Amino acid sequence: MKNSSKADNGSLALEEDDELQDSAATHEVDLPRIQRAVREILAAVGEDPDREGLLETPARVARMYAELFSGLKQDAREHLKKFITEQYDEVVLVRDISFNSVCEHHLLPFFGRVHIGYIPNGKVIGLSKLARVVEVVSKRPQVQERMTEDIAHLLEDELDAKGVAVVIEASHSCMTIRGVRKPGSMCVTSAMKGVFRSNVSSRAEIMTLIYGEHR
Ligand code: ZN
Repeated sequence: MKNSSKADNGSLALEEDDELQDSAATHEVDLPRIQRAVREILAAVGEDPDREGLLETPARVARMYAELFSGLKQDAREHLKKFITEQYDEVVLVRDISFNSVCEHHLLPFFGRVHIGYIPNGKVIGLSKLARVVEVVSKRPQVQERMTEDIAHLLEDELDAKGVAVVIEASHSCMTIRGVRKPGSMCVTSAMKGVFRSNVSSRAEIMTLIYGEHR
């Protein structure tokens, strides 16, 4: 696994890709229904939803949820259909794909970085497509463990890769601003498929590639 290819967010951004969709606009969300619910919450906590500062809040929150959950009706597989046939069988690793999601237990944000490594089996995907997959999977009510598994499964299925490794490091605001209140705590999850699961030294190698140089 020597000639590992790596990319940071800089090269991701430079890569040609589909235009960013106005995700909020393409996703069917019942905005008035969210607005009514937000008014209810404000009233229920003892606020006056009709005071000036709060008048626009329900509409604003509704648009925000449309954006935060824009991945709910999207299929991440779409981003994995266009691959390059390439006999490259070393590790492809993309580190530090930033993301933000919403925990489904509290509807509070969690955010951090995703690292994705895979060993192709004749199918190589554009690096920015990995970031697209992260975007779709994170923009829905989520738990970090499932998100990690989902990304790994998608790559395993669609690319037929020899190995897939997904590591997510995230900070959960439901842990930092409420409940146990542990600011700075990070939750790390990983999903290993194929050779990264079956072979201890391959797994050690990908973890070194992910963590080795800059931590
Ligand atoms: Zn939570």
